[in-house]
Amino acid sequence: PIRKIDYLGPMAAAGGWRPETSLPEVAFSGRSNVGKSSLINALVRRKALARVSKTPGRTREIHFFGINDAFTLVDLPGYGYAKISKERQAEWRPLIEGYLRGAPALRGVVQLLDVRRDPTDDDLQMFDLLADIGLPTLVCVTKVDKLSKGAAAKQVQSLALRLGLDPAQVISFSAVSGAGRDELAEAVMSLVTA
Ligand code: GDP
Repeated sequence: PIRKIDYLGPMAAAGGWRPETSLPEVAFSGRSNVGKSSLINALVRRKALARVSKTPGRTREIHFFGINDAFTLVDLPGYGYAKISKERQAEWRPLIEGYLRGAPALRGVVQLLDVRRDPTDDDLQMFDLLADIGLPTLVCVTKVDKLSKGAAAKQVQSLALRLGLDPAQVISFSAVSGAGRDELAEAVMSLVTA
């Protein structure tokens, strides 16, 4: 159970401020609108933990939260927002890559995908980057309540095939129904306590 959450602060640029690395870290990644804030809030059972990362001007920062003084939850900026220009869309990479490569206490990344969408080029770049760094990656599909059980299972099959994963490794999640919440919490806990 989560007893204590502290907002530790933002990292605004690669090589910029970040909290001390004495505690294990787990990071959450995905394109904007994938449902990352909703998922983080459901996971920690707080209504608006991820609100700070949604405030204007702060959406392109990395936000750090201390959980139970035991590990650090890292909210990476959502990438690939469709309404901004291609050049600005590519801006996510230096900050995220800089953080990921310079985080000795990072135990793994929860990579989110919308169950209704094919992975974008940015998603595939993220998977390549995570594989290149050799970071353990949990794949979690979001918003599964938007499809029937059968259709969601089919989508998970095809996403897994596309990414070279076993479908059983993919966590199906819904912030609306609560599906997958406990499974994800357990998987995150085993990453940070391993
Ligand atoms: P973020 O930009 O990745 O942080 O995404 P948000 O958590 O803000 O969610 C983006 C939109 O998707 C919002 O309108 C949410 O209400 C909606 N959403 C997020 N998670 C779910 C979910 O599990 N089910 C449904 N039906 N909608 C969701």
